Amino acid sequence: MISRRKRLCIALILMTVLITACSRIKDKTKYEETQIKMGTAMTIKAYGENGEQAVSDAFKRIDEIERLTSLNISTSEVTSINNAAGKRYVKVSPEVFELIKESMELSKMSQGAFDITIGPLVKLWNFGTKDARVPSSEEIKEKLSLVGYEKIKINEKESSVMLEKPGMMIDLGGIAKGHAADQVVDILVNYGIKSSIINLGGSNVFVLGEKNKQELWTIGIQHPRKVQGDGFLALVKESDKAVATSGDYERYFMVDGKRYHHIIDPKTGYPADNGIMSDSLVLDSTLVKNSSMIGDALSTAVLILGPDKGLRLIESLDGVEGLIATSDYKLLISSGMDEKIESISEDFEYDAQRR
Ligand code: AMP
Ligand code: MG
Repeated sequence: MISRRKRLCIALILMTVLITACSRIKDKTKYEETQIKMGTAMTIKAYGENGEQAVSDAFKRIDEIERLTSLNISTSEVTSINNAAGKRYVKVSPEVFELIKESMELSKMSQGAFDITIGPLVKLWNFGTKDARVPSSEEIKEKLSLVGYEKIKINEKESSVMLEKPGMMIDLGGIAKGHAADQVVDILVNYGIKSSIINLGGSNVFVLGEKNKQELWTIGIQHPRKVQGDGFLALVKESDKAVATSGDYERYFMVDGKRYHHIIDPKTGYPADNGIMSDSLVLDSTLVKNSSMIGDALSTAVLILGPDKGLRLIESLDGVEGLIATSDYKLLISSGMDEKIESISEDFEYDAQRR
């Protein structure tokens, strides 16, 4: 007889193996793999030859990006920049240098809504951890003085970066996954993959080519008030597009019926509360370079800008479309998006007036 204790041990070991092992599905025409990276489950499905090798290289690339950019890794370049805030310039890889420069451009483009120097506030609120809490207004005021992309100093010649004030912190959480998705697409394309769906945690999806000759990919956009996978806000049919979603339903907590979520308005220091529950941007990768990265940053920005300014920003950009789920259950859809939408959730009212 195996003792109870031993049985429990075996069960625990089995569970751990099941949870930590990445899943792999292989057949002649399709290769699919899921791994936990950057704190989320990422699935890459590739059709055609070389799928397995291509996907394996793609995950290695994601690892590299995580090692360079993560705030949780003490040796990452971003951690080094943050540790040297107010003291000195830090030489970084061309990749991180470009990411920071692009982020600053995206700040300008979004009237300061997207701002990677939001780090001290993200840390103060502690979303997604057991220490999450509503800080005092004094604490918020103090940290707000450390936020502002114009306080990032860059030296092109040296490929180095410095944060002006001690205590400043860069957080690439709003853009790194999008950048990773762009890199994955490049790798798959180099391997000759013509059809793929890349899902980096639901918030960054890329559909490469078509699912098969007659059929576009169907992407389910998460319903902001339903459990993941339990209902969609909308279904969209696309090919060669980056689809980036930001929502107040990810990493949040409730106090006295009020929702506090992880996307912070750099003007106030509080979670964005401008009338949007979630927004998804759809970028045409044949028109927009680094479409997943741009989409990732802009979807975060739109949630902060609110429905009117957000929709205006989307409409002002070539190759960028989007849909916005407002807090009053309206669905706003940009002008080039209508025919791509298969269906929308009954919970939302389609609002064409706002456009
Ligand atoms: P996303 O899920 O792409 O919308 O990104 C949200 C993440 O970006 C948060 O978890 C923070 O790490 C970071 N973040 C929060 N507020 C901002 C902001 N205003 N600008 C840039 N990044 C932000
Ligand atoms: Mg984002």
